[in-house]
Amino acid sequence: MPIYEYQCEECGTISAHVVLGAQPSAELSCPSCGSPELRRVLSSFAVVESEASRLANFDPSRPRDESFYRDSRNVGLWAKKRAQQMGIDLGPKFEETVEKARSGKLIKEML
Ligand SMILES: [Zn+2]
Repeated sequence: MPIYEYQCEECGTISAHVVLGAQPSAELSCPSCGSPELRRVLSSFAVVESEASRLANFDPSRPRDESFYRDSRNVGLWAKKRAQQMGIDLGPKFEETVEKARSGKLIKEML
């Protein structure tokens, strides 16, 4: 089941949508502002980098550009960074959840 990420043209919110069939975008709308103007953000394998260095370079206060969302390995990175900054140990359960989210299993399990 294909799941695509879309960026809202109005407010920039990224949302993931399960897409059935060939022309889904007509029925999609932004979960934040309700705008139907969504642009698909394609997945790619742009940068090979260890998670440790990704985490180190990742600045949650800096606006992320579109390329950030093209990489599924960035899923969960924000939450992780915040937790690290606040000194919270998210534990193995979080890792597991992130892994599932990255591979799409989490969404499949929810369906
Ligand atoms: Zn929006």
